[in-house]
Amino acid sequence: MFHDVHKKILRALETQDLRKGSKESTKNELTNRINAIKKFEKIHVWRKELREAKKSIIDNFDFYIDKFKNNVEKRGFIFHYAENSDEARKIILDILKGSRLVVKSKSMVGEEISLRDFLEENGIEVYETDLGEFLVQISGGKPAHMVTPAVNITKERASTLLEPYIGRRELEIDKMVMGVRRFMREKFFSADAGIIGANSLSINGEIVFITNEGNGALTQILPSRIILITSIEKLLPNLDYCIKEALVQTVYDGYRNISYIHIINKSFDKDFHIVLLNNNRNSCDNFLNDTLLCIKCGSCQLACPIFKEVDGAWGDIYTAAIGIPWTYITGNKIMARDLSNLCLSCGICYQVCPMEINIPELIRKIKGLR
Ligand code: SF4
Repeated sequence: MFHDVHKKILRALETQDLRKGSKESTKNELTNRINAIKKFEKIHVWRKELREAKKSIIDNFDFYIDKFKNNVEKRGFIFHYAENSDEARKIILDILKGSRLVVKSKSMVGEEISLRDFLEENGIEVYETDLGEFLVQISGGKPAHMVTPAVNITKERASTLLEPYIGRRELEIDKMVMGVRRFMREKFFSADAGIIGANSLSINGEIVFITNEGNGALTQILPSRIILITSIEKLLPNLDYCIKEALVQTVYDGYRNISYIHIINKSFDKDFHIVLLNNNRNSCDNFLNDTLLCIKCGSCQLACPIFKEVDGAWGDIYTAAIGIPWTYITGNKIMARDLSNLCLSCGICYQVCPMEINIPELIRKIKGLR
């Protein structure tokens, strides 16, 4: 296992194109974040409130999951609870019985359960509608970063990847975006179902997600069948907290990736399913509980000196330092331990984390597990 991770990292170090991509995208990350934090005076109050609220829910998951279930059912959603990835995939495949084409917006939980690959293996055509995630899909790779999945793909590489889909080689970003937009429009209108993710869930039954493109709205408005795939640590006490979460995430990502905050508060008579995944979150070792406070802003990834060199090669689904406890909880424990050996313990991730998660300490403990 260590050997595999090692090989992936060496390959990334040798691939100049990849290194150029991650260096370009991370070079202004600190300035962007500092400037964004300055603009939002209340951000420190909100992030601390958020941390406390998340803590109280993590301490009592069963109670809040039950409340959430009752509240979403009152709003017309169909609720499913999935204990693990296998269960989640099976539930979703069942819901999609008879579907041929699915449009999907970005979801890290979807990545966690390898949803796209699984549906494709089962004969369903899936299109990622977020531009970055579409680039990841057609490159055959995995997201390098939680918020900007194609952070390591240069403009030139994107141009080559997109050519077969948009019909010509475009070198300007605006033209690539327009080409993908035209290509996706037809998919949106012919999709049998839409799959979305969520940034947060209010216990009262509202769903909140943020996007920087219009794809999220179209994915949940146009198809008549919708599936939300999400996980239990996204639960928050009410809609106010969900909006604060969206803003904290955006500010700590350097204010780069928010154009829309979507709030869904009822099913609008659609066949609207919510699949809530546990995947060991509710029963992980106590010392890992703080991982569940993570709001997946990706700030620690961009600040990490190793990520700057090798991006998504240092990790599995969840990359960089916080990816290690996430991998330990939701994925392969041996791989998480191998990845932990490459951490420099510099502590930058801890300094930039809005949820004040002591990531180096979590990694130190994972390193010590045998
Ligand atoms: S660990 Fe902290 S900085 Fe990293 S993604 Fe999670 S919330 Fe953001």
